[in-house]
Amino acid sequence: MQDELRELYQEVILDHGRHPRNFRHPEAASHSAEGYNPLCGDQLRVYLVLDHDGHIDDAAFEGRGCAISIASASMMTELLKGRSCGEATALFDKFHAMCTKEDFDPADSQTRDDDALERLQALSGVRQFPVRVKCATLAWHAMTAALSGDTQATTE
Ligand code: ZN
Repeated sequence: MQDELRELYQEVILDHGRHPRNFRHPEAASHSAEGYNPLCGDQLRVYLVLDHDGHIDDAAFEGRGCAISIASASMMTELLKGRSCGEATALFDKFHAMCTKEDFDPADSQTRDDDALERLQALSGVRQFPVRVKCATLAWHAMTAALSGDTQATTE
């Protein structure tokens, strides 16, 4: 990865880590689940507000964790709004592939996820650090747990 790109990614992570978006508890939350990553100590609760069509009206989170887990949760809440549950889960599948597969190429997926995946590229550096993958995907595990009616998610 080019140094300039690495620096840009670092900046995005630090910005979201220091100023997380949607860091709150929406009163209208219809679904929520806690995610726990014992390896790092990250502990987050993800809140979702689903409308009557099953689209995500609002997404937010609370908790504490390392910069990567907070930045990922922050970006996730921004990217989920307006998506159906299926689209949200599909985005996680692609993000997970991005974090774990060396040969992942976002250009392969010609979908509306292109922009979202481009933004999530900032977190793709965790690929080199398997322990960090759990930090980056924690909020997403909690999100899919919440959608399927579970209240707990763990990276173990
Ligand atoms: Zn962490």
